[in-house]
Amino acid sequence: MKLRKTTAMAALALALTATAACGGKDGEAGDQEKKTDEKALPTYEVAKDVDIDSAVFEKAKKRGKLIIGAKADQPYLGFQNQSSKKYEGFDIEIAKMVAADLGFDPEKQVQFKTIDSSIRETAISKGQVDLMVGTYTINDERKKQVDFVGPYYMAGQDLLVRKDEKDIKGPDSIKGKKVCSITGSTPLQNIKENKGKYGAEPVEFGKYTDCVKQLIDGQVDAMTTDDAILKGYAAQRPTKLKVVGELFSEEPYGIGLKKGQDKLQKAVTDAVKKHQENGDYEKAYDATLGLSGSKFVEPPALDN
Ligand code: GLU
Repeated sequence: MKLRKTTAMAALALALTATAACGGKDGEAGDQEKKTDEKALPTYEVAKDVDIDSAVFEKAKKRGKLIIGAKADQPYLGFQNQSSKKYEGFDIEIAKMVAADLGFDPEKQVQFKTIDSSIRETAISKGQVDLMVGTYTINDERKKQVDFVGPYYMAGQDLLVRKDEKDIKGPDSIKGKKVCSITGSTPLQNIKENKGKYGAEPVEFGKYTDCVKQLIDGQVDAMTTDDAILKGYAAQRPTKLKVVGELFSEEPYGIGLKKGQDKLQKAVTDAVKKHQENGDYEKAYDATLGLSGSKFVEPPALDN
């Protein structure tokens, strides 16, 4: 009797382990897949005695921590591991290399904060984050509220569809189709403002993972946002999803910061430039975003 119970419990434990491995909350985005080649990541030397004439920097220095806004649901770009709570991805590496040059130890003195697309400008201008590094497209409208360093990467709007989709081949074939995207993102704005051109039925959510779920469940026909983000979801669910591959916008990524912090803006620009030139940027790319299937290309030239 005792033996039977033990066997049953072992079987139950095994079943639970198996369920955890292929499902669970985090499993929605396929957490079992490898999103970072940790051994291949560069390490960043922490600068000493950094002094920058900027209120945002001085406040961060005083608190001994740099607070960086990030995404938590974009595999390979900005992703928070639900068990370790650690953030990983290409944007996270960009944040870490910048932090190190500003004198903050990326492993001990950086606090990542999840900031959704719709609240980025508010979070920056209210000082809830010192910097924002999260698939953040530089554009004139946003420049009225925040400053940017960049572009450090060039993405473009694309479409994610179910693997068996045959009709949607690009932005010209989404007429009358339900296309999911998220509040406050430029790709959603594009299909909404150009309804006459694309004719898609926009479906709006707060988080990208909600759109992924809607797409897999057949509630929407496609999902739209930057190719870099979509490739991550397709790489996580290769049997269910595919990226269409017809870009229909330019999404230059920038690091957002509070307006009027010119010296900090310059220091962050110098940091990105330095790590692009010394090879860290490419190494970081290959160990993160590169794993989702897009080869490294030379980044665009930085402004200022
Ligand atoms: N890059 C686009 C944007 O900044 C879409 C990605 C995102 O939502 O972060 O709106």
